[in-house]
Amino acid sequence: MGSLKPPSLSRRGFCVCCIGGTFTAATGWLTPRQAFAEARGLVSLIKDSAATSPITTHKLRNNVSILEGSGGNIAVLTGPDGKLLVDAGIGVSRPRLSKAIAELGSEPVAHLINTHWHFDHADGNEWLHAAGAQIIAHENTRKHLSGIQRVEDWDYNFLASPADAIPAEVFAGEHSLKLNGESIALKYYGPAHTDGDVSVTFTEANILHAGDTYWNGIYPFIDYSTGGSIDGMISASDANLAASKSDTIIIPGHGRPVSNKAELQEFRDMLVAIRDNVGNLKKQGKTRDEVVAAKPTAAFDAKWGQFVIDPGFFTRLVYEGV
Ligand SMILES: [Zn+2]
Repeated sequence: MGSLKPPSLSRRGFCVCCIGGTFTAATGWLTPRQAFAEARGLVSLIKDSAATSPITTHKLRNNVSILEGSGGNIAVLTGPDGKLLVDAGIGVSRPRLSKAIAELGSEPVAHLINTHWHFDHADGNEWLHAAGAQIIAHENTRKHLSGIQRVEDWDYNFLASPADAIPAEVFAGEHSLKLNGESIALKYYGPAHTDGDVSVTFTEANILHAGDTYWNGIYPFIDYSTGGSIDGMISASDANLAASKSDTIIIPGHGRPVSNKAELQEFRDMLVAIRDNVGNLKKQGKTRDEVVAAKPTAAFDAKWGQFVIDPGFFTRLVYEGV
């Protein structure tokens, strides 16, 4: 099959110590105990972890907040037109997410934008739609949510979403909304982390939600099964940089949820350096395993390699695309 294994949960050297403690509590992903449960799939582990993870609220500016702890970082815009959410988290987080959303104001949820189709961003679509949200996404996100999707590198088959969880409103290039005094601009990246990623810009607040084109301080996952690539991730990073000013608040899909242009630049430069390292080794005729053994990410591992996408897993993802 040639599929890449999920992060090496059982391999010696996998740093379970580093994904424990408060870091895991904040991200809502794996605990060390779960990481040792190697017989179970990564996706199941992430869902189980979300079932008990607390939700942390970060208030930004202009009535925009971030909810952290249910899969991807969720942005919330509040106001008299009803709440707008960017991403829906994982369904099992519903009780804790509902409470955190209610604490931001009494108005109902009126709109939900999916940055892309992945379960840790769209699994909550069904309950949020039932709560009143109209769901907006790129047309490829609707396509992926509408049918069975296999993600080879997670070794997981996702079933089609229920009809109510599928975005009713889709677009191809750009889309805009005006709600709660805020101009909200949605823009398709082109193929990046998947083939359906969109950015969401809160114009007056000067806040950019970059979805999973940006992972702050950790190596990113790249979903080749639904159109992602390392080159696409770099192009999206360039687009994010071009769309940001020095004082723009940038919300990553994963990692520390409040970020900025300087950190984004570091992420982009890391992607380029590792792509070049892995590309050079592959051009020399090295196999995937030989490239992993050569540690082409070594200079970056202390900062970026302490999460689920460990150095070997990230090297394999980059190798696939160079
Ligand atoms: Zn994703």
